[in-house]
Amino acid sequence: MFESDLVIKSDKVWDGESQTFKEATLVINKGIIERIEDLYAPVKGKRVIDACGLIVSPGFIDIHAHVEEDPSDTLTIQKLLLLQGVTTAISGNCGSGLLLDDVEGSLRERFINLCFLTPHAALRRAVGIADVYERATPLKIKAMRELLRSELEKGAFGLSFGLEYTPNVSQDEIYGLAQVLKGFDRRFISIHIRHDGPKCIDALKEAIALAEDLRLRVEISHLGSMTAFGYAKEALNIIEDAVLRGVDVKFDSYPYSAFCTHIGSAVFDPGFEERWGKGLDFIEVASGKFKGMRLNEDLFNLLRKEAPETLVVAHVMNEEEMRLCLSHPMCAVASDGVIKGGWGHPRAAGAFPRGLLWLREAGYPWEEALKHVVTIPRENAFLEGRGELKEGSFADVVIFDPLRLSDRATFSNPTLPPDGIRYVIVNGEISVEDGKIIGPSVGFILRR
Ligand SMILES: [Zn+2]
Repeated sequence: MFESDLVIKSDKVWDGESQTFKEATLVINKGIIERIEDLYAPVKGKRVIDACGLIVSPGFIDIHAHVEEDPSDTLTIQKLLLLQGVTTAISGNCGSGLLLDDVEGSLRERFINLCFLTPHAALRRAVGIADVYERATPLKIKAMRELLRSELEKGAFGLSFGLEYTPNVSQDEIYGLAQVLKGFDRRFISIHIRHDGPKCIDALKEAIALAEDLRLRVEISHLGSMTAFGYAKEALNIIEDAVLRGVDVKFDSYPYSAFCTHIGSAVFDPGFEERWGKGLDFIEVASGKFKGMRLNEDLFNLLRKEAPETLVVAHVMNEEEMRLCLSHPMCAVASDGVIKGGWGHPRAAGAFPRGLLWLREAGYPWEEALKHVVTIPRENAFLEGRGELKEGSFADVVIFDPLRLSDRATFSNPTLPPDGIRYVIVNGEISVEDGKIIGPSVGFILRR
């Protein structure tokens, strides 16, 4: 009898489509799910995984990743995502990252499949705007539009803005760039909105207006971290209303009540303590030689001036509101993972298992919870051929123990892989076995 590359048998196969568990045998050959047979079908494989009692799901899809800066950090982030069960990630979010040609050069090893948005800051850099507070001239907007068009032609999945990081950016610049997407099929714009805290509602409305005016899809990035200061409920209502009137707006969120970014960013321009109602002692240094220390006036001034790339973690959001966002029926769980020199925020290593646990705690059965880590992000990103276990799909699979699944990464040990992830299969290759990376790097850069 012909031996297939890999055979997986389980009584709990969640195919991403029917939203129920089935008994099945997945027959994988040359990276593709070639056939799906019943559980007891006599299929031979070079490797057979008996996963009865374990959940077999399409690999998780991270719609908000940051695999885009320093090559060694990006490798770490990819591995941490893989160990959580993520097999495809959309990177270049929050307006930050690289243009496609540069990505190609810097990402020699790919442990997961990667898609890229064209980051606003990369467009600005390319036309000579280094200052985040600078307003682009009409001539520079025109040059950015041309560059964006060529990125989309090369297969970028869309455009990303980090409006909070470029506080003076004009509507002409935003709309001028967004309009370029109109000429392309199945692209989207991810937006880290202009404000967190008290002005987040205005900022959210600005992003929704863009989607409504231009009839484009807008993905609101990490909604919780922008609104969980007493505004999450109102924000969710606004999104629901927009959807009801036909606006193509989506959102994602991560399951932590602390955010993480560079201390030199505009997020920490004067007024942030008032915005969050919390002082410097709620902010922890997460990379560099002061890591682990809480900020005080002197340390804050020193790092802002001399080490603006330092990552800091701000424990300032309300957990209850973070949970409200994450457990909303529309929410895609996302990592937003950032790591520098092996340090950063635990979401890079724990967001997906933790997000699933939060969903379970909110009352979702597994069959429903899995939608938030597979189906919703897949649909939001217009991803095809992945995120479903059906004949002809790419064999991206995660196999986990529902009784043991839990995140272990903490703020003091942010890169600890989760418990309970037994196998992760990327493009038909076993990449993770019993919580350890065993396979070669077999991910692709996916182009639209
Ligand atoms: Zn962001």
